[in-house]
Amino acid sequence: MNDKRRIYLDYAATTPIETEVFEAMKPYFIQNFGNSSSIHSFGREAACAADEARRKIATLIGAEPSEIYFTSGGTEADNWAIKGTAYAHKDKGNHVITSAIEHAAVMNSVVALEKEGFDITHLPVYSNGIVKPQDLENAITDKTVVISIMMANNEIGTIQPIKELAAIAKKHKVIFHTDAVQAVGSIPVNVKDLGVDMMSFSAHKFYGPKGIGVLYIRKGIRPDRLISGGHQERSRRGGTTNITGVVGMAKALEVAVRDLDKNYTHVKALRDYFVERVNKEIPYIIYNGDKESRLPQNANFSFEFIEGESILFSLDLEGIACSSGSACSSGSLEPSHVLLAIGLPHEKAHGSIRFTVGKDTTKDDIDYTIEKLKKVIANLRDFSPLFAEFKNNTVTV
Ligand code: PLP
Repeated sequence: MNDKRRIYLDYAATTPIETEVFEAMKPYFIQNFGNSSSIHSFGREAACAADEARRKIATLIGAEPSEIYFTSGGTEADNWAIKGTAYAHKDKGNHVITSAIEHAAVMNSVVALEKEGFDITHLPVYSNGIVKPQDLENAITDKTVVISIMMANNEIGTIQPIKELAAIAKKHKVIFHTDAVQAVGSIPVNVKDLGVDMMSFSAHKFYGPKGIGVLYIRKGIRPDRLISGGHQERSRRGGTTNITGVVGMAKALEVAVRDLDKNYTHVKALRDYFVERVNKEIPYIIYNGDKESRLPQNANFSFEFIEGESILFSLDLEGIACSSGSACSSGSLEPSHVLLAIGLPHEKAHGSIRFTVGKDTTKDDIDYTIEKLKKVIANLRDFSPLFAEFKNNTVTV
């Protein structure tokens, strides 16, 4: 390993495990390793720890412990909420409503339903990346069985008016799910206050372990079971309880809620400083997403005339980790559906980069990133035929 500086600005992708969380998990790897379904003392110890974690998580989001269902993460929780509810109510209708900017976990769940004969409505989000409640009101029919709209977007960080949207769903007696994977731990979230029927969240987004998530299912809502197996999770989701995961998730949420104000202030100040400097010091950029209703840690820019992937690779060579909007890594060169949905033309959507700061990011990290970013953007534009053409046209008019 070389000792080059490394700066992580991809906290929306995942976060490191908090030391307090790791310490809380440790005994459950080696000493208290029991299967929580076993009736002997090893099993009872694990079951107690799982119950305690469930109680803690429920209290922290305003739910009852019996409304918390552990899953393998946000993806499974989203699949379960959407497909499980659609299947459970297929006698009533075959219409599902979602937004145009959902994460792949939701987007591909509705694609799967569409192949099975469900009708899907994708609500638009306009240039600020936000769903209009009136559009939801207009889209609901007597065949609508489930609505799924994310709380905060993973690419542009916009926060949706979930309370208002959930109230509309309730008025029409349609089940409302929100994917709150990017929101929980970053902004205050209370299911009772929001009035949602189901909500997904995932520990690795708030300094907890990977591979553990929760689907909150309000009492009385019964999505079909997706994971067949034993009687775990009150017979609604089979599989041996991930005891280290649930203990870690509960501790991580406790710490995130305890420190929320402090971390919010810290990441927002750094993000605002970063945005201000990029706006001032780098020409031909677009700051994507709503300026106000957005996660405090998220900054997403389109850098005109160049490709996001090239910026990403060049910054990586400088030790800076961030994320691009296009899905090159998945073998497709299509720009992100989120950036297209807010109205960016293909070439601008291609030049987009997401930076997400975290609680360990420092002002020095941001200063270093700005200096490297300025250099990378200038270098790439030097080789860009689009930029050369733009400059020639500007000179001749
Ligand atoms: N939903 C959103 C908005 C996300 O950002 C992610 C992860 O990036 C997921 C769902 C999937 O969660 P997980 O990684 O726990 O499966």
